[in-house]
Amino acid sequence: MDYKKLARENILSIEPYKPGKSIDEIKEFYGLNSIIKMASNENPLGASSIAKAAITKYLNNIHLYPLGDIRYLRRTLSKKLGVDGDELIFGNGSDDLIEILLLTFLKNGEHTLSVQPSFSEYPLMSMITGSFCKLVPLEENFAYSFNAIAKSIDKYTKIIFLSNPNNPTGTHFNNKEFIKFMNKLSPEKIVVLDEAYAEYVEAKDFPVSFQLRKDYKNLVIMRTFSKAYGLAGLRVGYALANPDAVKLMNRVRQPFNVNSLAQVAATAALEDGSHLERTVKMNLEGKYYLYKALDKMNLKYIKSEANFILIDVVDGLKVSEELLKEGVIVRYMGEYLHQYIRVTIGLNEENEIFVEKLEKIMGELI
Ligand code: PMP
Repeated sequence: MDYKKLARENILSIEPYKPGKSIDEIKEFYGLNSIIKMASNENPLGASSIAKAAITKYLNNIHLYPLGDIRYLRRTLSKKLGVDGDELIFGNGSDDLIEILLLTFLKNGEHTLSVQPSFSEYPLMSMITGSFCKLVPLEENFAYSFNAIAKSIDKYTKIIFLSNPNNPTGTHFNNKEFIKFMNKLSPEKIVVLDEAYAEYVEAKDFPVSFQLRKDYKNLVIMRTFSKAYGLAGLRVGYALANPDAVKLMNRVRQPFNVNSLAQVAATAALEDGSHLERTVKMNLEGKYYLYKALDKMNLKYIKSEANFILIDVVDGLKVSEELLKEGVIVRYMGEYLHQYIRVTIGLNEENEIFVEKLEKIMGELI
């Protein structure tokens, strides 16, 4: 008996998602004591202490199922964003929301569309759910080309995923160009604005997505608690969408998809504005420190609106492996971006160690 013959055909060509290497994995493999992880765009400050306290307080209740209606998080978030509770849907990370969206709206023969390079879950989940994702290359400087995107849309294109700022490039598109695109687009196409890194954005022309939702019923805005809120390990993200879309997606959503510790931690994290402020401030300082250091090394990089920087090191695989041996985990982004590494902006001392190790490695390679 061959299990491959029993499997759904569309999953056979899928490469499983490769997460960044864990600290323990690298320690064990290279026999290192201290490791810094700058690979998965997590918050180097950790979670808010208020969120951690809320988890501890809730521990006596973890034998109970989570709240299926995600009541308190929904209430707190809707108040904070100034939106109605029925415009919000929560997921086990935004990864879960991508799956829910596809299972709710993608009909037989329809496909999704995104850009290249971008977040790998869009094509991956499209394939898992029996479809595919058309990828439109970004421009040479990794800017979005809405002309190219518009040209690639056909009658079978159903969901358009736009990561803004884009992972892994850190580039963004602005309000004006996005509105122009939306005005020309058929309202039958769903546009997902994946704003996983929105809290870090400096650009003043960044789309005011929450306001735009009233003008465009086909807009779905996705955010996460995994990045600036420092809760990646708990898995909680949300989407803001038209209540009619939310109602349909709730038919697909698993009843207890957001666990109770994630719910209490995210609710508490929303109340801790100062942790978010510190996170964003430290990220900005780190970003400019790294820009300066990279300029000094004569390395090219892409200016970022997020908490990571894509750096041209000529041979991304080699440099990421050499950095690993030095105890620094960064991300090699695969063949399409073989010249680059993506580094998550860390604590000041982590950024300094990264620069020191990179300088050494680049010196040896040249
Ligand atoms: N969207 C983008 C653009 C991301 O980079 C990530 C995380 N790498 C996600 C979504 C998924 O985040 P979550 O942890 O909420 O599933």
